[in-house]
Amino acid sequence: MNDCIIIGAGPAGLTAAIYLARFHLSIRLLDNGSSRAATIPRTRNHAGFPDGIPGRDLLGLMQAQAEQYGAVVEMVEATAIARDGENFVVSTTNGRLPACTVLLATGVVNNRPAMPDDLHDEALARGLIRYCPICDGYEVTDKRVGVIGDGAHGMREALFLRGYTRDLTLIAPSAALTLDPSCCAALDDGGILRVDGPCRGFAIEGDRIVVDTPAGALHFDSIYPAMGSVIRSKLAVAAGARATDEGCLEVDEHQRTSIPGLFAAGDVVRGLDQISHAMGEAGVAATAIRNLLADRHPIRR
Ligand SMILES: Cc1cc2nc3c(=O)[nH]c(=O)nc-3n(C[C@H](O)[C@H](O)[C@H](O)COP(=O)(O)OP(=O)(O)OC[C@H]3O[C@@H](n4cnc5c(N)ncnc54)[C@H](O)[C@@H]3O)c2cc1C
Repeated sequence: MNDCIIIGAGPAGLTAAIYLARFHLSIRLLDNGSSRAATIPRTRNHAGFPDGIPGRDLLGLMQAQAEQYGAVVEMVEATAIARDGENFVVSTTNGRLPACTVLLATGVVNNRPAMPDDLHDEALARGLIRYCPICDGYEVTDKRVGVIGDGAHGMREALFLRGYTRDLTLIAPSAALTLDPSCCAALDDGGILRVDGPCRGFAIEGDRIVVDTPAGALHFDSIYPAMGSVIRSKLAVAAGARATDEGCLEVDEHQRTSIPGLFAAGDVVRGLDQISHAMGEAGVAATAIRNLLADRHPIRR
């Protein structure tokens, strides 16, 4: 019986693995190779790296640290979590694994504008597409920026970015903008331009990204899609865990979901979608897991 199965080896899952392995607990760490952190060209707001660090390198360092204490990342997809008394059985594409506790650290997937993958990936690598103003808004200070979004969500993203640049345009992704009068007033107050969609195409021209709209081709230093994301909480929700309407798992101050023994950390939980936050939540979850197990059976050398 495994003390804990961690599903997801992003910043949250790897942090939990380091903690739990160092608590001398038996863990399995499952991953299907799709961490959001792996797509970060270079994070510059993560403390401890004055020159920034590519997301993949950060994950590599964390994995190496976890491996020092015996944790192994198993490349396998978790497909279901079932309760078995006070324990769990996690189904995977490789078979079923029993565990006393489960930590879900499966993150989220950003919804992307419609464009070919290779164009998207090049634009992302070059900072022409960005997904996280909290992370990298600083890098677009005084630049020309487009926000691909609509409604209150698009408005909030544009207003947040107004803290970095005055040259902002909100463009609806697939149709005319649908903004209520208060959104229009807030955008007007911030001097943010509004352009109806659909975005008919994207291209890279020199150092700029070009968005083809009904109003013509618009050139930007960066665009930020603000099109929401898919929360990868379905394994926990299917097992009965409570989630918000958007699918973010609800947890208490110890990262406990509504199912005893099932914990969650990182982007899959409602909160700030940031590496530091994912790591902090994972440290809390791992310690709570250790203490839950110790309540069931003393943990002694
Ligand atoms: C372009 C971009 C730039 C960003 N820049 C920054 C930045 O500069 N600073 C910052 O703090 N944050 C940044 N972020 C946000 C940051 O990437 C996330 O907050 C962070 O990765 C969350 O960590 P996580 O472990 O919760 O999720 P993830 O990193 O997404 O990891 C989740 C893991 O779960 C695994 N998984 C999912 N489902 C399954 C399954 N069924 N079975 C097995 N494995 C599964 C995936 O393979 C993945 O490895 C950025 C995000 C993007 C997209």
